[in-house]
Amino acid sequence: MTETVSAALQAVFEKERAAARTLPARDADAVRAQVVRMYARLEHEQVAVIAAAKLALECERGCNYCCHQRVEVRPYEAFVLADHIRAHMTAPQQTAVKEKLAANQARIAPLAPLQHTQAGIPCALLVDGACSVYAARPAACRKYYSLSVNTCRTAYEHPTEPLIGPLEDDGLRLAGNAVALGYARGVEESGRDAGRYELHAALLEALENPKAAKRYRDGKKAILSA
Ligand code: SF4
Repeated sequence: MTETVSAALQAVFEKERAAARTLPARDADAVRAQVVRMYARLEHEQVAVIAAAKLALECERGCNYCCHQRVEVRPYEAFVLADHIRAHMTAPQQTAVKEKLAANQARIAPLAPLQHTQAGIPCALLVDGACSVYAARPAACRKYYSLSVNTCRTAYEHPTEPLIGPLEDDGLRLAGNAVALGYARGVEESGRDAGRYELHAALLEALENPKAAKRYRDGKKAILSA
């Protein structure tokens, strides 16, 4: 981790790093199961911080300002999302998701990351105001908790202006990063792609191109479209 963190969080980071290095890269089911367990540990760490610090968070179902920002995922997260969609959505729903992903990808492709964030494009996985893949959402979404819905709303309504007001708790953010970044470091050190890719492009490729998973298993760059 690049920020100064406690010895306890550094230990969490190192534990995740070691866990990821044990991943049997050629077993897709094991990859998915291990990533899901990593997500559970991430939640465990953050719940502990929320309780210890008695944080008053203002996130609630139906509030989705943060789902209009740029989200980046690692390849193994895109594969977990793709598997979740295949397992939990009907064929027509999957077709609809892919169409929305492709439409967003086309809008996003010409934009620089900051322009994308400022464009306020709703995530293609946002349905009726809520995340349609909540159980499989990536670490970037899991890690984010807001201390102030007013700050989120202001940032959404005035995306090019400097952020004003409280937003994230530093301890909570660092706890999430200790797990997610430690795991990513371990994946990278084991010779697999742990790069960050724009969500829509990465997920569409994971859904439509089996070669993406094969490239990942072979230790190559997994996502070519983002
Ligand atoms: S994946 Fe879900 S939580 Fe993340 S931005 Fe999209 S709709 Fe929001």
